[in-house]
Amino acid sequence: MTAKIIDGTALAQRLRAQFHAQAEALAARGHRPGLTVIIAGDNPASRVYVRNKVKACNEAGFDSRHIEFPAEVSTETLLAEVARLNADPAVHGILVQLPLPAQVDSGRATAAIVPHKDVDGFHVANLGGLVNGKADFAPCTPAGVMEMLASESIAIEGRHAVVIGRSNIVGKPMALLLLQAGATVTICHSKTVDLPAITRQADILVAAVGKPKFVTANMVKPGACVIDVGINRLETGKLAGDVDFEAVKEVAGWITPVPGGVGPMTIAMLLANTLKAAGRTAQS
Ligand code: NDP
Repeated sequence: MTAKIIDGTALAQRLRAQFHAQAEALAARGHRPGLTVIIAGDNPASRVYVRNKVKACNEAGFDSRHIEFPAEVSTETLLAEVARLNADPAVHGILVQLPLPAQVDSGRATAAIVPHKDVDGFHVANLGGLVNGKADFAPCTPAGVMEMLASESIAIEGRHAVVIGRSNIVGKPMALLLLQAGATVTICHSKTVDLPAITRQADILVAAVGKPKFVTANMVKPGACVIDVGINRLETGKLAGDVDFEAVKEVAGWITPVPGGVGPMTIAMLLANTLKAAGRTAQS
């Protein structure tokens, strides 16, 4: 069997075209969606991510900006900027790009964003909302994965979903979204015993580990849907996921590539969340 490849780039492009039309409709009513991204320091990966996010938003007709702070910025300075953006009615979404420089309290920075502008979905109010099924915004990467599953009409209800990784931004919210959709969910992590025995039971396997080729073919149930969240920079400079793509695609039923899989969908969901925030302002 050769797995069907779920093309995240193509799906994201289709969604972004829809978002563009919706953004123009809102703009015509005086509510052009606005996203501001705060970045501090000169982490090269963060710079690329921020550039891509701002570009995608602007291409979709949003008013998207980024504000840069030097690496030595204080927590107080950052909090003051977040407070200013919280109060600005033209800013519907605020995103603080992580990681922040070591001296900045990332928890306070994330918590300072008002939940209805927290388009990354990292505020405790939104993470808590995932538990009771009432989140304003789901974190973009897991939300993007759910869109990918929906695009292929992959059955979730009653299926066994295994998530490898328990971070607050990917693994845990991913598990909660799958649970809400009716899956029986197992979360695995570095302390899990006999991981392959668990992953081989998965109808849906999500890898969010951060280790290239971590998921091998013998860890996958034939016909399973394998979602690769990992983004790893190899010594060659190339990007690779957490899944041994070439081997696993011979076993799985569906698989996502890296690059061109979950990454573009993460950005598309940032647009979706910002649009939702702007739409609410327009209604209020
Ligand atoms: P974290 O480092 O925060 O979490 C990694 C998780 O993997 C941890 O829960 C860890 O377990 C688990 N893990 C590590 N080693 C093993 C092991 N040997 N067996 C089982 N589990 C293990 O990473 P993130 O969640 O932030 O990101 C995961 C990956 O996804 C990264 O490659 C990141 O770059 C990528 N990413 C991609 C995005 C996209 O848009 N596609 C967006 C965000 C992230 P423990 O908790 O026990 O340490």
